[in-house]
Amino acid sequence: MRENVATALAAIVGPEHVSDRLVDRLCYSRDCGPDKAGIPSVVVRPATTEEVSAIVRWANDHRHPLYTRGRATTFLGSGVKDGVILLETTRMNRVERIDTAARLVVAQAGAIWHGIDADLRRDGWELGVPGGGGLFSCTIGGTVAVNATPHGATEYGMTGDHVLALEVVLPTGDVVRTGSWANPASEPIERNANGADLAGPFIGSYGILGIITRVVYRIQRIPECELFRFYAFDEYRDAVEAATGIQGRGAATFLVGLFGGPKPTGEEGDAFLHVVVRDRAVAADARVREAEAICESHRGRPRPAEGTRHYWQEHMYSWLRNTAPGPYYSDRPFFCPEVAGFVSSRGLADAVALFRTMKAEREREFETHGIRVKGVDAYFSRNGAYLWIDTLYDERQPDAWAYGMQLRSEVAERMFTEGRMSPGGLGAGISPHIMPKLGTAYGLLQSMKRMLDPNGILNPGLLIDEEER
Ligand SMILES: Cc1cc2nc3c(=O)[nH]c(=O)nc-3n(C[C@H](O)[C@H](O)[C@H](O)COP(=O)(O)OP(=O)(O)OC[C@H]3O[C@@H](n4cnc5c(N)ncnc54)[C@H](O)[C@@H]3O)c2cc1C
Repeated sequence: MRENVATALAAIVGPEHVSDRLVDRLCYSRDCGPDKAGIPSVVVRPATTEEVSAIVRWANDHRHPLYTRGRATTFLGSGVKDGVILLETTRMNRVERIDTAARLVVAQAGAIWHGIDADLRRDGWELGVPGGGGLFSCTIGGTVAVNATPHGATEYGMTGDHVLALEVVLPTGDVVRTGSWANPASEPIERNANGADLAGPFIGSYGILGIITRVVYRIQRIPECELFRFYAFDEYRDAVEAATGIQGRGAATFLVGLFGGPKPTGEEGDAFLHVVVRDRAVAADARVREAEAICESHRGRPRPAEGTRHYWQEHMYSWLRNTAPGPYYSDRPFFCPEVAGFVSSRGLADAVALFRTMKAEREREFETHGIRVKGVDAYFSRNGAYLWIDTLYDERQPDAWAYGMQLRSEVAERMFTEGRMSPGGLGAGISPHIMPKLGTAYGLLQSMKRMLDPNGILNPGLLIDEEER
């Protein structure tokens, strides 16, 4: 069977872009997270929409499950099952059009986020959001498919907010274009044209409804001025209040709160707030002064903001704590069963308190298994906060691995109920803890899946339990 699949796919993309060698198949099973996954039967790397369409058509005709992969930078479980076709998008990496008059870029889905941004920057433009922490390696298609929470979310919103149009291969192999792009006579300039927003269902649904092959994304001029501030607080509730105040005034482009994990090097305090302001020079100055006043009115202490600048400009997570990456991650291979999601700004302090209580209750277990808390950090969005709880454990220790996974389940269950959090990142590891809680919303997603993918070939088992499909 495997040979037949490989031969059929080779006829579509050429034999050099198909592999059924075990060493290749093993490399395409997991994502960056701790979840173990199955091993695909064959890996195929198409270069065009037409090739993707032909592969999907073949898989649908033969009822063969197929899993899409960009650069596998998620932490939440790839969900790859044994025996699937693994379709990898990274040969589809062309930036096809930069149109500064229409303020858009058209890229193939496998183009690397930062690579697109680098092309734009040469002429003083940038993508509508800078991307998330994985921007140096993730694809634009994968990032839209997971609707990643980007840097700059406080002012610019989510990844999906700047999608103007998508080209998608449906599970039958048909190709659809959305928004104004659906009309062959039009340009892809408006998401909300030609009726219902057809891009929406493909944003954040992890590839279960179709394979994105092209993304049309909004671009903007790089702002004239960037200013940075960093504040320490002795009480985390003051930091939350300050951030909420700044958010309410629209005074910052990006606010990142640190509510747990290691303290930034050389700093004292219970919580910390990074403030980034981008604008024209005069406006940026006025906004940063407003942010300073709000922090100080909530007992924030101004601290040197070099780490903030470094973090923003280099997009390196470790700079949130003023450290270079090496010492931060140490010499052990740590894996991170992350739980992350949205909570209202008002509910954030309680969600932080809930995790602090859970950690205190497990102090001895954390010590026994060498569990570390890497961060209890929040990107403030436009309406609330995206809080992520990163615990680290050493995967070489089977007991620590088992404990880490159990801890993720417990944190997810409590955060999604008592903590009133809704996950932003799903994946195979997190979705069982949220989807059944969604009632008719889960039912609607199941109906959409059944309608678009009657044979259940795309990313089977991901987000929707196969038995419930
Ligand atoms: C260091 C680091 C920091 C990160 N920081 C953040 C952060 O700040 N915020 C955040 O939200 N995330 C963050 N992430 C996660 C990461 O940004 C996203 O997971 C990433 O954008 C996904 O892109 P990818 O190409 O790796 O997709 P993959 O991981 O390969 O795929 C993700 C999902 O999308 C599907 N998919 C992939 N491509 C397509 C396609 N073309 N069409 C349809 N479905 C597709 C896959 O089937 C899978 O279900 C970080 C990751 C790393 C490694």
